[in-house]
Amino acid sequence: VGQTNVPKYKLNNGREMPAIALGTYLGHDKSGMVRSVNKQLRDVVMQAIDVGYRHFDTAEIYGTEEELGEGVRRKMEEGAVRREELFITDKLWNTHHKREQVVPSLRESLCKMGLSYIDLFLMHWPMGLHLRDWFPRERQEQTLDGICTRVLVVREIFFTCTRNTDVLQQVLMALRFRLQTAITSEDYTHSDVDFMETWLGLEDAVRLGLARNIGVSNFNKQQLERILREGSIRPAALQIEVHPQIIQTELVQLAQRHQLVVMGYSPFGSLVTRYGIKFPGPTIDDPTLVAIARRHHKTTPQVVLRWLVDRNVVPVTKTVNPSRLKENIDIFDFELSAREIEIINKFDEKTRYTLPSFWQTHAYYPFEKVDNPSADPFIKH
Ligand code: NDP
Repeated sequence: VGQTNVPKYKLNNGREMPAIALGTYLGHDKSGMVRSVNKQLRDVVMQAIDVGYRHFDTAEIYGTEEELGEGVRRKMEEGAVRREELFITDKLWNTHHKREQVVPSLRESLCKMGLSYIDLFLMHWPMGLHLRDWFPRERQEQTLDGICTRVLVVREIFFTCTRNTDVLQQVLMALRFRLQTAITSEDYTHSDVDFMETWLGLEDAVRLGLARNIGVSNFNKQQLERILREGSIRPAALQIEVHPQIIQTELVQLAQRHQLVVMGYSPFGSLVTRYGIKFPGPTIDDPTLVAIARRHHKTTPQVVLRWLVDRNVVPVTKTVNPSRLKENIDIFDFELSAREIEIINKFDEKTRYTLPSFWQTHAYYPFEKVDNPSADPFIKH
């Protein structure tokens, strides 16, 4: 099924990672995370497998583990793909940084996905957080259960009357989701759990066979060096933001020197409008990128993805559009020249689009601090 020309990287323990991943973070709006409607994401995952994707990226906080799991399970049941051909990356959320929380949190994720192991488990951020006391987990769950019970009762009545439960089903799902992720910067306080303690928990997951590989995301140079120095299991991968406006030369080189595979998130950078925001920087019709694209009979998004591939960085790219799914994976039949790579590197302005500056007073905040911390994780210009 699908294209077979996606190369793989050997990880430092001999396992292999497909060179492009489909991201499953659907974004956020004012009320929290964006939710997949009518199993849209499940269907996208199935289409993605049909056109050759074998690597999927999710995280506990995205709220997409269930649909990703359902999509891959359906394809396995159809016989289109075997589990060992797939590579699933998942991430531990910041509220589970104590060593004894890590394995239970992964087990919960696996349960949501309906899988018995994941291929790569990443620490999403080096910072541990607590949910605020005024909204403790138990109360959150009680509220959730209370509301769900009421909605279920109403649904029963509605069902008896109309035999049409679709609308209420969606209300129920939306409520459940909103309460589970009732999480903005204000819902958290800082926890001082050392990320090395969290790393021990990730190592436990490997020993238990629940994660085949472990790694980190959004770590800076010093933090990565500490993991390399003090950990017993070497990290297999580093996931960071990489696109033409933040090319991350030093961090990519450091990680690759230590045999980590680098995964680049938000690879299109300013080429696309994300979460309703258009960032400054090169657009999809930027003349420099268009000239390179014409030379290779490709589109500018394909050129940018190939720029990552040619730097041995795995693009983690998200689309829910079937034709863009095909477009984004159709990048393994050409190569950029060293000069073209240099030209794209010149767009670098060290601009981050994921910049949770509201956490910048945290002892393990990985990025450079800004003068006016924002309440929104995405930079506003
Ligand atoms: P992307 O750079 O993949 O951009 C996604 C956007 O580009 C979507 O709006 C999509 O719209 C659009 N798009 C996709 N393909 C094309 C195309 N060929 N032409 C034009 N537009 C296109 O960035 P994301 O920020 O979404 O990141 C990708 C993934 O990286 C996430 O899903 C997540 O898995 C991971 N990530 C990890 C983070 C971390 O902290 N570790 C942080 C952020 C992301 P449409 O769907 O309509 O096609």
